[in-house]
Amino acid sequence: MLFKCGVCGYVHEGNEAPDKCPKCGAPKDKFVALSKEASDLVLRSRFTNSLHMELYSLLTKISEISQKGVNDALDEPCVVLFSRAIDQSRILRQMVSAELETHQKKGKWG
Ligand SMILES: [Zn+2]
Repeated sequence: MLFKCGVCGYVHEGNEAPDKCPKCGAPKDKFVALSKEASDLVLRSRFTNSLHMELYSLLTKISEISQKGVNDALDEPCVVLFSRAIDQSRILRQMVSAELETHQKKGKWG
């Protein structure tokens, strides 16, 4: 079950609410049990957020690999391809960041 701190929004996973909120120190009675629907949404958001984070680190890896290719500069088409990979991965990373920010603002972080 999931329990949400009514003061700071921290979400606790367990059979009962914690004695004290680990984030803001609010007492147990400030926690409310989330409905099954709300819990599913929080868990799905966590899953999606973890996918975003994984994507972000892979995109960073793409930039690093491509930078090596640009530095190596075997021939023009290779440099063009690697440069494009760097640009595209930067754009995608920015999109991931923007999406995660939107989640945080909506309180989807869980
Ligand atoms: Zn709290």
